[in-house]
Amino acid sequence: MLSIDTFSFSGHKALLRVDFNVPLNDQFEVADSTRILAAVPTIRKVVEGGGSVILMSHLGRPKNGFEDKFSLRHIVSTVEELSGLKVKFAADCIGQVAEDAAADLQAGEVLLLENLRFYKEEEKGDSAFAEKLSKLGDIYINDAFGTAHRAHASTAVIAQFFPVNKMFGYVMQGEIDAIDKVMLKPDRPLTAIMGGAKVSSKISIIENVLSKVNHLIIGGGMTFTFIKAQGGKTGSSLVEDEQLNLALSLMEKAKSMGVEIHLPVDAVIADKFADDANTKVCAVGEIPDGWMGLDIGPETVKQFAQVIAASGTILWNGPMGVFEMASFEKGTRQVADAIVEATSKGAYSLVGGGDSVAAVNQFGIAEKVSYVSTGGGALLEYMEGIELPGVAAIRS
Ligand code: AMP
Repeated sequence: MLSIDTFSFSGHKALLRVDFNVPLNDQFEVADSTRILAAVPTIRKVVEGGGSVILMSHLGRPKNGFEDKFSLRHIVSTVEELSGLKVKFAADCIGQVAEDAAADLQAGEVLLLENLRFYKEEEKGDSAFAEKLSKLGDIYINDAFGTAHRAHASTAVIAQFFPVNKMFGYVMQGEIDAIDKVMLKPDRPLTAIMGGAKVSSKISIIENVLSKVNHLIIGGGMTFTFIKAQGGKTGSSLVEDEQLNLALSLMEKAKSMGVEIHLPVDAVIADKFADDANTKVCAVGEIPDGWMGLDIGPETVKQFAQVIAASGTILWNGPMGVFEMASFEKGTRQVADAIVEATSKGAYSLVGGGDSVAAVNQFGIAEKVSYVSTGGGALLEYMEGIELPGVAAIRS
């Protein structure tokens, strides 16, 4: 497989799939440029190696062809600013306009194609559409990890037209390396910390990580399904009654596999789901009627922190409580602090999946963990053990 690090780009036109699906404000300015910034190293690598770059991406969810509010022309100036390169724009991603713009491209130049999703064929994974795109360049680089779990024309199908000349960009490579480090060759003990609202949305991940981890820490709303399944009183906490048996079987499975499951022992409980609720701390299985558990309690934090401190590798997905409300963010913050502390002492820590990423950003500690995944759904599927079409297409 080709590597972006060693490939000689001189004279090549690289068709680079990026994830420029960024939020725009009312004036169509980029409101959060994280994803554009993430793609800059790959763009610069090609340009500095003497190649040219044809950027392709989607933006938003256009329903029926061109819609100005989803036009990628709105982001050209931001790409220029962040990359330090002049960026040309083609008002279509296939057809004469795109072909002429790509043909005119000189070494060292960058061209951004219009939104791929103005064509329904993109999401359908249409082979003829992918072939038209493929004609624009002579190498294919996929750097859009956020859509790697989709078998779309530009993320997977297109790769068949580049039997040899295809590779991952730095974003993709970084994400794959991080998750492989955790799942395939972790320094032990390996601890997974799973939180968030519902156990039902994390079952496949829990099942997959059970065969790999030494410790599984469970927090957040899903705690209470496990506690109720064991006969605890959970008041009006979030419980998925239809998952009670599953919670028990996951615990048995863990036991038989030698995985230590750590459940909360105490909880911060509230008399309503609101920041200004009355709160108190109680044992996790003794929550009175009318009260709900919205964060892990101090004794739980202490126990979890000990497990985290003794870990060689840490995978964190999902908050420990309702961290969006100041009254219930403490448990998530303290677990995050414990991960930061362990990382500073040499542990490898990967944080991924929507809300735990939001939490590390809220606490300003993104720089203090080993890797923060931007992958969202793609990372979750990778953690479930599913081979991502965008990854498989490059590897095959
Ligand atoms: P998820 O998307 O499944 O990772 O869930 C994240 C959401 O879970 C966040 O919005 C949290 O507010 C929520 N959450 C965490 N702990 C609790 C809890 N004890 N009760 C209800 N919701 C929770």
